Amino acid sequence: MKIQNWTDELRLAVVRRQAELPRDNKIYWEAAQAADGLPVYCDMGGCLVVQSTGRVELLDLDSQSVKKLEDERWLTIACLAAADRYPEFEVVRPTRPNGAEDCCKCSGSGRMRMIDARCGTCWGLGWIRS
Ligand SMILES: [Zn+2]
Repeated sequence: MKIQNWTDELRLAVVRRQAELPRDNKIYWEAAQAADGLPVYCDMGGCLVVQSTGRVELLDLDSQSVKKLEDERWLTIACLAAADRYPEFEVVRPTRPNGAEDCCKCSGSGRMRMIDARCGTCWGLGWIRS
């Protein structure tokens, strides 16, 4: 899957941020090599890696294999995580539609505090499309 409205600035931001990734962050650094892009989110399921073309791939950490995204919600998480980590990616942050309601599972924060992960109910958005 590809991030919509991908621009040349975003392509350059991926290239620059990928080159600047610190090697001591082993999981992210290895994910960048394996999927040739900028990892923006990792959890037990794998790493979401944004490539310079705007494509987002899921790197399975157990098998080190790159998988195609099949659920659009992963793309949402990738956009959110990219915007949270890097100011250049603020333009891809999903916008909250009028009438959306706060997610009751995470009280609108988008995060599960106990396990430091994104909320699985709203996929990290903090709101639910009504
Ligand atoms: Zn939630």
